[in-house]
Amino acid sequence: MGDRKKVILVTGGSGLVGKAIETVVNERGGRQEGEEWHFVSSKDADLTNRESTQELFKRIKPTHVIHLAALVGGLFRNLKYNLDFYRQNTIINDNVLYTSYENKVEKVVSCLSTCIFPDKTIYPIDETMIHNGPPHNSNFGYAYAKRMIDVQNRAYHSQYGCKFTSVIPTNVFGPHDNFNLEDGHVLPGLINKVYTAKKTNTPFVVWGTGSPLRQFIYSLDLAHLFIWVLREYDSCDPIILSVAEKDEVTIKQAAEMVVEAMEFKGEVVYDTTKSDGQHKKTASNAKLMKLCPDFKFTPFKQAIKETCDWFVANYDTLRK
Ligand code: NAP
Ligand code: GDP
Repeated sequence: MGDRKKVILVTGGSGLVGKAIETVVNERGGRQEGEEWHFVSSKDADLTNRESTQELFKRIKPTHVIHLAALVGGLFRNLKYNLDFYRQNTIINDNVLYTSYENKVEKVVSCLSTCIFPDKTIYPIDETMIHNGPPHNSNFGYAYAKRMIDVQNRAYHSQYGCKFTSVIPTNVFGPHDNFNLEDGHVLPGLINKVYTAKKTNTPFVVWGTGSPLRQFIYSLDLAHLFIWVLREYDSCDPIILSVAEKDEVTIKQAAEMVVEAMEFKGEVVYDTTKSDGQHKKTASNAKLMKLCPDFKFTPFKQAIKETCDWFVANYDTLRK
């Protein structure tokens, strides 16, 4: 990427993925010479506001952007707020991409998700299938807003030659996640519920049947891959960032891993009145492994244990 100083702006820098990238950059040797990193949150700029977004870019003068900021949530938050997910994310993405174009940013890496793929599909899902049919009904607002990032990236490329691309992670978890039961994703929810069940001597309630399948990626692994994409991956086409298909687990297996990590000895029950959501969204990581054959994912058990330990150590201050 040349000798010019790189100024990297990370939107959503206070969230699960942003904090993991910050950890890798500042504590795990992820920083290269000549790089200046800025991790920003909604306190630095409300990205739903065009002027506020423009002021942020004038202040930081980024040459590169990792765009993570979004209204994010698990199945149950999506079910309730499809309109908010569509509107807020569409506006944030339009502001960030257009302001990046206006300010001649060299490269933008935005974040999609495997939950935006068509509901009725063949498996494994790959990068070519994003627009092949309607998403699952539970999160169509989020899904369509995210799909439009891919449309915008292609349009900025074809009209102006911009190097705007996107990555597609599977379910992410790790330190700094949102552990709120109503809003958050399944793993932080399970960790929070086991913690309370252990403390209050009550059953641990897993929502749904436990049969849906998910591929989970540890936020710190995702952070390394994001940095690799920023430096090395120059196509406008999205790339799936996921563990292998063989590492897909049921929600029940994930719940059992959390029980083991938290050394919970009480009763585990399944509340089948709660939605299961999408049964599976099995994704192929073949493209990633072809480009990055030596990448090693943290074993799931170790990553769960580290996340549970972080949760217990930071219980008083974390999002819950
Ligand atoms: P998160 O922990 O909820 O963090 C969201 C981030 O976005 C926070 O830094 C938040 O700032 C910022 N943000 C939200 N609204 C904003 C606004 N109006 N203006 C400025 N900043 C705003 O989410 P995450 O899990 O790290 O998600 C990061 C990215 O990964 C998102 O694009 C998400 O769609 C994608 N992704 C996540 C998952 C997952 O399982 N978590 C899976 C696939 C893809 P504040 O802290 O100030 O609110
Ligand atoms: P998804 O992967 O986009 O569907 O979102 P989630 O990360 O919210 O995972 C939802 C799946 O986990 C569904 O099958 C839920 O029934 C199941 N689940 C079990 N317990 C919980 C919980 O405490 N919170 C959440 N969000 N989901 C749970």
